[in-house]
Amino acid sequence: MSKPDLTSQLKNVSKKDIKQIKDAEEMLGPEPETMGFIKNIFWGNFRENMVFPYPEEPTEERARCDEMLKELDTYFRTEHPTVEIDQNQEIPNWVIRRYFEMGVFGMIVPKKYGGQGFGVTSYNRVLERIGRSCGSSAVMASAHLSIGCNAVTLFGTEEQKQYWLPKIANEALSAFCLSEPDVGCDAQGQHTTCELSECGKYYIINGEKKWATSAAQSCMFTVMAKYKMTDPKTGETKDKFNAIIVSPDMKGVDIFSRNRSKCGIRGTWQGRVRFTNVKVPRENLLHKEGKGIVLALTCLNWGRCTLAAGMVGAGASAYEQAIKWAQYRYQFDRPIGEFELTRERLARMGAFVWAMDAMLYVTTGMVDRNDEDIMLETAVCKVFCSEYGFRCTNEAMQVMGGEGYMTENEVERLWRDSRINPIVEGANEVMHNFVFGYGSKQLGEFMLGVKANPVKNIGAAMKIAMELFLGVRRSAPKVTMADSSLDVHARTLSNHIREFSHQVKLMFKEKEEALITNQTTQYRLSWISIWIHAMACSISKMDKTVRSDADAKQVDHDKAMLDYIMDYGTYKINGWLRGLRENPDGAMLKASEKAWEFGETLPNSDYYIPESTPDKDAHGAGKVNNQDGIQQFSGGSLFIEQAKTATH
Ligand SMILES: Cc1cc2nc3c(=O)[nH]c(=O)nc-3n(C[C@H](O)[C@H](O)[C@H](O)COP(=O)(O)OP(=O)(O)OC[C@H]3O[C@@H](n4cnc5c(N)ncnc54)[C@H](O)[C@@H]3O)c2cc1C
Repeated sequence: MSKPDLTSQLKNVSKKDIKQIKDAEEMLGPEPETMGFIKNIFWGNFRENMVFPYPEEPTEERARCDEMLKELDTYFRTEHPTVEIDQNQEIPNWVIRRYFEMGVFGMIVPKKYGGQGFGVTSYNRVLERIGRSCGSSAVMASAHLSIGCNAVTLFGTEEQKQYWLPKIANEALSAFCLSEPDVGCDAQGQHTTCELSECGKYYIINGEKKWATSAAQSCMFTVMAKYKMTDPKTGETKDKFNAIIVSPDMKGVDIFSRNRSKCGIRGTWQGRVRFTNVKVPRENLLHKEGKGIVLALTCLNWGRCTLAAGMVGAGASAYEQAIKWAQYRYQFDRPIGEFELTRERLARMGAFVWAMDAMLYVTTGMVDRNDEDIMLETAVCKVFCSEYGFRCTNEAMQVMGGEGYMTENEVERLWRDSRINPIVEGANEVMHNFVFGYGSKQLGEFMLGVKANPVKNIGAAMKIAMELFLGVRRSAPKVTMADSSLDVHARTLSNHIREFSHQVKLMFKEKEEALITNQTTQYRLSWISIWIHAMACSISKMDKTVRSDADAKQVDHDKAMLDYIMDYGTYKINGWLRGLRENPDGAMLKASEKAWEFGETLPNSDYYIPESTPDKDAHGAGKVNNQDGIQQFSGGSLFIEQAKTATH
């Protein structure tokens, strides 16, 4: 069947929304040949070979990683200044040096370029351990490794690898410069440009970047910049993106702010960097011209896993502390852990951490295997772990009551450190849009194709018509690779997949084009797909346990966690399915209109207004930030300062 062009067939959709869809299509490129796990569940299929068997790294690598974890554990218990880092808002240089010495900050760089040559699963095991003790270090490690080291390893030329990798694997940090004052979630809207110099040997970069983690401490930045390219076939000129290596010593690079005080991960520094006519040799281009977004999206697959790993660690740490507290804090003549509402919190935390761990390592297995089409799976892993990981820290604070709020008991830091994760590496709202939009796109196109030409596609048309008009569901997919002791859960999973796919098709029929902007429906469907994935990964993890020589106590523990995850997930899925038709959305939209109108009555001068708002009347008319009492950070490259001191 010929594939219809979705955007050309859309009526009643605003130009802005059509542009957003086209931008996303451009950014994501052509659909991969094979559909990944999540896309398949939209069709009602279960690609079990992507989640079974539960992945395992090579024995030699696991042993090497265990050694690194042992060393790290001792380091965290005896040396690492977690509290000072948070209080002083800085990761001291000696700590950064220690991470390099232990091999952590070069762990995914191939051995032949001076790194440790670990795969993604090992990398995430280490990030999980760091996340247990220090959220700031986890973010610093991820920013440096997932993008800086990874971009050069995966997309660098041989010369770039030989020059940069030994340095960034052993000596100095790297930073990623994508966000700008008016570029956040919408990465396509970048203003930073690069143009070829007249001689054709250099790129000239102009623009301003914001929030580049570790920029002030880094020896290199991967800078994303807009680049005009002409299609030789059509003669059409389009904005594409280049990823270019820039170093802080280049003329025209100005780190005018090293950092600003913030809520959590306070040891990390986010720099603001201005690029004024920065002349960069053309050899510093990473990947190919116009392929910067491909590089960024590939590196994001890694970054989203490490963010999740940090959350598994932080969630586990909060969970364990909460259990201890609940066992020893007595109120009403008994440990508070005996009250059913506290028991519920502990059970939830335990099951969330267990399922997050399952999803994380199934996903890292996919990245390690180089599976095709896994952008949705890494996005889903990020959403699930950032959401439920943060909830674990929140639950722990509630269990500990007032003491949970006290700095010295550390849960408040885990809570603050975790709050960033639903915002960065793709805000979760945008991820839900993406999960639904990208996950259902091929199914939607298929349905449009059948609708446009039912006679030509008579077989498919009959099947779809039976499903849409007579409610005849496709048969549920088979789960054949799980141990037979897990049959009940396998059946639940397969029924959820069948119902989910059926409801997606019905939503296409009922809502038609309106579904494109109906984010609340997309959100519900996205969450169902995420929970189905969480269940599949959890069953796979249990499958590994029952087939292993784990002791009975461990099996018993894991079984209880799996049983609860399956029941809790089913409870959530049923709620979202019901919510597709029974919901307060109509009243919500009315209330949001009133909220908007109320906002218009409030004077701009009493509130903070985004520095880059395109609204001319509001621009510069907001409340001035009061910086008194807030620690200030100067500008300049600390990396260059330290290098100068070292040579004197
Ligand atoms: C501590 C920290 C570290 C960072 N590190 C880096 C780094 O190393 N390199 C780098 O380049 N950037 C970095 N960033 C920037 C980060 O990637 C952005 O903050 C993130 O992309 C979100 O952009 P924004 O903050 O501008 O939010 P905005 O884009 O303004 O969005 C605000 C909110 O609007 C909502 N929203 C936006 N779009 C939609 C939509 N389509 N549908 C529904 N809701 C929507 C979401 O709720 C979102 O949270 C960092 C930021 C922080 C705070």
